Amino acid sequence: MRTEGRGILCTSVHTHTTFCDGADTPAAMAAAAAEMGLQTLGFSGHGYVPQENFGIPPERVGDYCEEIRRLREMYAGRLEILCGLELDTQTPPSQREEAARLDYRIGSCHAVQDAAGRFWTVDDTPELLRQGIREGFGGDPLALVRAYYDQFVPWVCALRPEIVGHLDLVTKFNQKEPFIAEEDPRYRALALGAADALLEAGLLLEINTGAISRGWRTEPYPAEFLLRRIREKGGRVTVTSDAHAAAALTFGFADALSLLREVGFRSVWELTAGGWVERGIQVN
Ligand SMILES: [Zn+2]
Ligand SMILES: [Zn+2]
Repeated sequence: MRTEGRGILCTSVHTHTTFCDGADTPAAMAAAAAEMGLQTLGFSGHGYVPQENFGIPPERVGDYCEEIRRLREMYAGRLEILCGLELDTQTPPSQREEAARLDYRIGSCHAVQDAAGRFWTVDDTPELLRQGIREGFGGDPLALVRAYYDQFVPWVCALRPEIVGHLDLVTKFNQKEPFIAEEDPRYRALALGAADALLEAGLLLEINTGAISRGWRTEPYPAEFLLRRIREKGGRVTVTSDAHAAAALTFGFADALSLLREVGFRSVWELTAGGWVERGIQVN
């Protein structure tokens, strides 16, 4: 796996462990974060998705929080550890309420619902995405994409999580297995409309390198035209790796910072135990 510099960044708060679909235990993630000299490590296990029996089931959340509490004490003075969840549009309300009592929440959409009420995941495999377009949206890729933004945006604006997860996740496979033209003004209008609504709601968005580390994309989410809009509107962003393994904790951070600088951002935000910290991005 490619490992590279993390630039000025000191935190990694979009991470997954063996409590959901990650490869490493929380203890292994914490050991790696301490080794890398990070200031803050945040755990954001997947909220439960009953339709697929995916994520951390409600009865396991207690163990998850307990293990993170144990690590927080163990690393006190060396590494700050935060306990969060990455909630999904399908996560049951009871777990959503429980998550509101944790250190932070990431609000994400990984699946769209069709008119018949069936859910189709957009980031599992290209085959499943194609099946969703075919069987759930009458073969119209744009209809699936529209449903994605239409379902994601009002939900996340109402949730008001600390971080909005991978805004244009629906395009995950589009570089390698194209199904829509991201230059198409109809697509752009949907994605830009979504970005505008989130910014008007004052939400903070992540620049997520997860699909790069997993070989699906060469650029982070959101796409550059969306980053430009976020910049123009004065939006706040944080850089995350969506790490599903300890080695990926700061994957692509330096490149993401360069991209943000190029697009005109002057600072990024990092979530620490003391709250959000703004870090200036130096111009070389
Ligand atoms: Zn996600
Ligand atoms: Zn994630």
